[in-house]
Amino acid sequence: MVVLLGQRLRFFDTTLRDGEQTPGVSLTPQQKLEIATALSDIGVDVVEVGSAAASVGERDAMKLISEAGLSAEICTFVRALQLDIDAAADFGADSVHLVIPVSDLHIEKKMRKTREQVAQMAWDAVEYAKGRGLIVELSGEDASRADQVFLHEIYSEGVKRGADRLCFCDTVGLLTPEKIVKIIPPLSRIAPLSIHCHDDLGFALANTVAALKAGAGCAHVTVNGLGERAGNTALEELVMALEVLYGYETGIKKVDIYHLSSLVSRLTGVPLPVNKAVVGEMAFTHESGIHAHGVMKEPSTYESIKPEEIGRKRRIVLGKHSGSASVEAALNEMKYSPDAPQLKEILKRIKQLGDEGKRVSDTDLMAVADAVLVIECKPVIKMKQFTAISGSNMIPTASVTLVVNGVEMTGAATGDGPVDAAMQVLRKSVAELADIRLEEYHVDAISGGTDALVEVTVRLSKDGKIITSRGARTDIIMASVEAMIAGMNRLLREEHEDRGKNTR
Ligand code: MN
Repeated sequence: MVVLLGQRLRFFDTTLRDGEQTPGVSLTPQQKLEIATALSDIGVDVVEVGSAAASVGERDAMKLISEAGLSAEICTFVRALQLDIDAAADFGADSVHLVIPVSDLHIEKKMRKTREQVAQMAWDAVEYAKGRGLIVELSGEDASRADQVFLHEIYSEGVKRGADRLCFCDTVGLLTPEKIVKIIPPLSRIAPLSIHCHDDLGFALANTVAALKAGAGCAHVTVNGLGERAGNTALEELVMALEVLYGYETGIKKVDIYHLSSLVSRLTGVPLPVNKAVVGEMAFTHESGIHAHGVMKEPSTYESIKPEEIGRKRRIVLGKHSGSASVEAALNEMKYSPDAPQLKEILKRIKQLGDEGKRVSDTDLMAVADAVLVIECKPVIKMKQFTAISGSNMIPTASVTLVVNGVEMTGAATGDGPVDAAMQVLRKSVAELADIRLEEYHVDAISGGTDALVEVTVRLSKDGKIITSRGARTDIIMASVEAMIAGMNRLLREEHEDRGKNTR
C-alpha cells in the first residue's frame, strides 16, 4: 500500500454551486439546506452553496445555510466585483471562492480586457473581501490554458494582498496527470492550493489524485460528479479511491455516502447512471453465474469495496448468465427448496426469459418456481375494474375495484400524476391487510416510439421483506398496476413452510 501524503487533505464540495450549474438543475433554498447539512455531517471541510449575487433565491439559501450552524465552512462563489463580495458578506458566508479568468482566451474573448486589467481586478477584489472579513480562496479560471508565469504572478501578489488559499481550475478538463506533475508543485508552494477538475474527457478523478500527490492540499468535488457539462470530480469516487487505492484515511463518514448520493440524485432530479462507480445501481449487483458464485463464497473475489462500508447492499440478480448457485440461493431466500432436477428446470426457464431480453424479477422467479414445483398460488388480490384520469385543471385520480380474499372492495385516490394515483389507490385498498410500501419505481421503454412496450419494475416491501416485480404493457399506467398487483400478491401469499421436497 502506498501512503499518499503527509498532509491532511481537505474536501471543498461544490455540489450546490458547480453541481447546480448542471443543465436543468435548480434547487430551492430549503433543498440546498438539506444537502448542505448532509455534506457537513458527512465531513466535508467547505460547502460552496452557490453564487450569492446570482438571484434572490441564492441569497435566501446562503442566509438559511449560514444560520444553520453547520460545522463546515460556508463558502460562496463571487466574481471580482464589490457587488458580489458584499452579497457574500451580507448574507453570512464564511469564505468566498473568488474566481478570475486567467487564460488569454478567457481574458481577451470573454472579458475583453488585458492581463494587467484582470490582475488588478483580482488583487483589488482580494483586498476588498479581506476588508469585509471573509476568508478568500483566489481561483484561476481556465488555469490549465493560462500562461503559467502570469498565473504564478496573479497568485503570488494575490496572497500578498491577503488571499488565504488558491485554487487551480481545470475549467474544461484539459489536464493530464503528466502535466500536473510539472504545473502543481511550484504553485502549491505559494499558499495552500485547491484543485478543481472537470470530467470532459473522463480524467477528473485521475487528475485530482495526481494534483493531491503533487502538492495540492484540497480537492473540489461534487456529489455524484454533478457539474457543468460532464461534471466535476465525484466526492464518492475520490474518497473511495484515496481510501482503497492509496490507504489514505479521508475522515469522511463513508457509511453515509450512498444516502448522500441518493438524496442529491432525488433533489436534483439527475438520475445516476446505472453503472456509475461506487453509487450506481449496478455497482454491487452481480448477475454473471461465475461471478455471483464467487461473491457468495468470498465477496472480495469480484468486489473491490465492501458495499456495507458505504451504506449499500450487495444484490444478486438473475438472468441468462445466472448459474444454478445464484438461482438456488435466491430460491432458498424465498423459502423454496427445489431438488436437483427441479432446480435445473427452473434455471432453464430463467435463461429462456433472459434470452427473450427480459429482466427477471422476483415475481418472475416465483412464478417459474411455482410452475415447476407445481405449487398452486391462488392470488389474494384480483382486479375487477381500474380507471385513472388526468388532464389540465384537475387532480389526477384513480379508482379501482379489487377482490381481496373473495371480498369486493372499491376505492379511489388522488396523486401527483395518474401513475402515482394508481399506486396510491392500490396501496390503500390493501392497507387493512398489510402495510406494503413502494420502495422503488423504474420505467424502461423497450423501443423509442410513443407506442413502445413499457416495462415497469417496482420494489415493494412488507415488514422488511423486499421483492421486485415487473409489468410490461404499452400503457404505462396499466404496466404499473400489473407490476404492483403481481408484487402485492406475492407479498401477501401465505408463507409455504416447505415449497419443495428437500428441506435444507
Ligand atoms: Mn467548474
